[in-house]
Order: sequence, then C-alpha cells, then structure tokens
Amino acid sequence: MPKSLGEIVRDKLDASALPREEPVKLWAGNGRGEPCTVCEQPILRSQVEYEPQYAGRAPIRLHIGCHGLWQAERRRRGYLPNDD
Ligand SMILES: [Zn+2]
Repeated sequence: MPKSLGEIVRDKLDASALPREEPVKLWAGNGRGEPCTVCEQPILRSQVEYEPQYAGRAPIRLHIGCHGLWQAERRRRGYLPNDD
C-alpha cells in the first residue's frame, strides 16, 4: 500500500530529509518542473512552488499542499511555535 503524504512527511522529518527548523527565508513563485521534496512529483509551471531557504543546506522545494503538511507535522511535534 502506498504511503500517505502525511506518512512521507513524518518519515522524512525523522530522516532529516525535511528540516525541523524554521527557514531563514521562505520564497514562493511559479514551479520550474523540479521535484517536490515531499511527494517527489514535479512542481509544474502552473503550480506555486514554496522554497524555504536555509543557511548551510540546499534549498528544499514544496507544493503548497506538501508545505502545509510539513508545517502541520512540525507544529504537532512542537518544532514550531504555536502562535503564528
Ligand atoms: Zn509535493
């Protein structure tokens, strides 16, 4: 059975493939066909790409929905402050 996106987010957070920390900066723009760090599907030009920037690690790229799942899981685990 394929994993749900929520499970993928949890696995990638556990494996540090997804960062726990807040990015230094969050860019958003049109997709460029690059794969999403969560679902590994390309982010199409017709879609919005979120690109959290980190010092000392390659930027990650996420669909809006995948970004939302990542945020939600980090909040659930207490990696993020609750007041944003
Ligand atoms: Zn995605």
